Amino acid sequence: MARMTRPDGVIIGRATVGRGLFAGRAFRRRETVLAIRGRVVNYNLLWEREGSAFSANCIRFGPETYLDPGGGPARYLNHSCAPNAAVTKRANRLYLVAARRIATGEEIVFDYSTTIGDDDVWRMRCKCGQPSCRRLIRNFGSLPIERRAFYVANGFVPPFIIRTLADRVSLGVSRHAGL
Ligand SMILES: [Zn+2]
Repeated sequence: MARMTRPDGVIIGRATVGRGLFAGRAFRRRETVLAIRGRVVNYNLLWEREGSAFSANCIRFGPETYLDPGGGPARYLNHSCAPNAAVTKRANRLYLVAARRIATGEEIVFDYSTTIGDDDVWRMRCKCGQPSCRRLIRNFGSLPIERRAFYVANGFVPPFIIRTLADRVSLGVSRHAGL
């Protein structure tokens, strides 16, 4: 397979299951890996096309919207229960950022549960192979409290997901965060 590094520093290559996104260069912790571009669609469209690859590839974008990455690189972003990246939202755009240092050639993965709100029913079987694998990937509230607190404290949970959470107090989400 041709492995061309895209201008944004990522490579689409063969992963454990299907294809995945790989680092074409090293990334520092918190460095932006990719601006996640695509078409914003209403959640109704995902219900209509439930079970399709289209639905599985969409990433939550707001309270009632999702981002369809189309044929863009974000379409190949796989989940891991021990991720090295996270999705954040700034100025109404989604970005993939490095959650720790990422070495050249590493697969770039994030925890899908960080973009699945407690009002969201999407779930998936996981075969990421990590010792911490949760097997069944569900909404953010399904994560162990330590994991939730870690993601929130590091800014790895977009605000529109935090707003859906029933248990914000024990996660240390401040009233002053404007949520
Ligand atoms: Zn897993």
